[in-house]
Amino acid sequence: MSKLNPEFIVEFGTDEEFNPNACINCGTCSGLCPIGLDALPRKLCRYIVLGLEDKLIEEKESYFQCLLCKLCVENCPTQVNISSNVRTARNYINRKIYKI
Ligand code: SF4
Ligand code: SF4
Repeated sequence: MSKLNPEFIVEFGTDEEFNPNACINCGTCSGLCPIGLDALPRKLCRYIVLGLEDKLIEEKESYFQCLLCKLCVENCPTQVNISSNVRTARNYINRKIYKI
């Protein structure tokens, strides 16, 4: 069972483009992703907002598969900066798991 970490969003490290709270879970990003990353953008937003650090780490390889092509970003109805959030997730995983 996943454990909630209420400090996760703070530990995650954010910048001015970081806005997972704007996601309305519409699924547009998942439907458009050219490499079929399924629910990656949506799940990333939910994990961050809900403090589900365990789940994000469990699926850590997905965040390194993203091409950062921004197709999802360009079509997101609420202007979630998905590729920027993915980059932030990579930085977090590198720091937390790989210690680099
Ligand atoms: S397209 Fe935007 S609002 Fe819709 S699920 Fe993806 S990130 Fe969320
Ligand atoms: S930026 Fe990443 S998640 Fe978004 S459409 Fe491109 S490959 Fe998929």
